[in-house]
Amino acid sequence: MRIRIFFSLLLFIPSLLFSDILLFYGKQKTSISTIKKNGWVYVSLNGLNKVLNLSITKEYSSRRYTLHLPQHTLAFVENNPFYLIDDKPKKMFLPLIAVDQSPFVSLPDIEMVLGEITDEEVFVLCRLNSIVIGKSTFNPDSIIVEQENDKLSFTLTSQTELLTSIDDDKKGKLTLTLHNAVCKPTIIPPADGKGAIKKILLLQESDRAILTFLYNAKQVIRTERKLIHPGPCLRISFFLKKETPPIETKPEKKRYINKIVLDPGHGGKDPGAVGPSGLTEKEIVLKISKELKKILQKKGFTVLMTRENDTFLRLRERSTMANNSAAHLFISIHCNASGINKEATGFETYFLSTAKTSWARAVEAKENAVIEFETPAEKESILEYILWDLAQNEYLRESSELADYIQDNMSNYLSLQNRGVKQANFHVMREIYMPSILVEAAFISNPEEEKKLKKAKFRKTIAEGIANGILKFKKINEKKLNQ
Ligand SMILES: [Zn+2]
Repeated sequence: MRIRIFFSLLLFIPSLLFSDILLFYGKQKTSISTIKKNGWVYVSLNGLNKVLNLSITKEYSSRRYTLHLPQHTLAFVENNPFYLIDDKPKKMFLPLIAVDQSPFVSLPDIEMVLGEITDEEVFVLCRLNSIVIGKSTFNPDSIIVEQENDKLSFTLTSQTELLTSIDDDKKGKLTLTLHNAVCKPTIIPPADGKGAIKKILLLQESDRAILTFLYNAKQVIRTERKLIHPGPCLRISFFLKKETPPIETKPEKKRYINKIVLDPGHGGKDPGAVGPSGLTEKEIVLKISKELKKILQKKGFTVLMTRENDTFLRLRERSTMANNSAAHLFISIHCNASGINKEATGFETYFLSTAKTSWARAVEAKENAVIEFETPAEKESILEYILWDLAQNEYLRESSELADYIQDNMSNYLSLQNRGVKQANFHVMREIYMPSILVEAAFISNPEEEKKLKKAKFRKTIAEGIANGILKFKKINEKKLNQ
């Protein structure tokens, strides 16, 4: 059966949204249903038994769900974040929920829960819409890049035979299909877009991994596929034209940081988080962004907004607009929410990196959930871009510096809890080729902070804090740029 990864049906049942996630374990795979509730994605526990050795029993009266494993039992209670592993209690980030008497665990928690069920390592690959159990499930297991004179090679190493097909259109696109493979995104080598290889894209389609090499047809004379011995390895080579020495450049003009893209999160059919009295994240972040735009324009910045009104924007539209604008900085504005802790409070600033803490992973999952609103074709195009670009690493230092200045300055302006600078992997920032950060301004889920967010004065204070962080970044970095 062909499992729909991109063609998952989007059914809008009030606040619930269904699609599937793929679970890979060794040679087995299965599709597991997910639902979305209050902005969080939850994974069904039923269906795990198709690939894992377990059974689930329910006691309807106590709303208790027990997972029976050969060695352990895991007991959950509906709407409760605690579970018992044998007799030891453990706490999840979000409570277990039940829909039609089927138990669901949130995406930020599934890694921990699966970790109890299996001794193997668990990988939750949001961008691939997949969960992979066991390192050895991945195939190929590495890609080695070598350059020898005018030959650039990518060697795919594997434990088991790779069934492949290849298509080179000779115009700059070589597509390598790996049948029966699930490819770990982190093995994809980065490409900076400047060399002969512009980009390497990975697309996981059921159990086929499709690698697309976008190359510069002017620099590549021919390509070659070769099986390498010993072992079932495969090598893709690009034969390059001899390099011409670079032309000496003249000293540059003075450089400025004066163009900014502001990205109010969510919009249109995607309300973002919703406060206890019904205030939506989408309307508040738009107001904060407009306030910030006003302040920055007064300081001489050119400011572009990804949206100026209540419209739905695809993540790709946001990043394309930013990249095409040749702006210097990208600032995404959001409000925070906590599903269980209504007391959660404060502001935090993120820059793009691998999420380091379970909280950062949870916020990442919440902001990335917007992808569920995109139509299948759009979803596909985002899933294509699954590599970590060098370009992002290039801006990592500046992004983290910008995040620091903004967080510092906001703490001077706001009497809210300073939750610090954090790292997470947000879709909206992944394809942006400039220093970029995401501000979670306050907790809309906290009744006190929701009340504050309704006040224009409070929103202005947030905008002023952000603006001053930007100004500090500009001052210090313009000096460095012109040294
Ligand atoms: Zn948001």
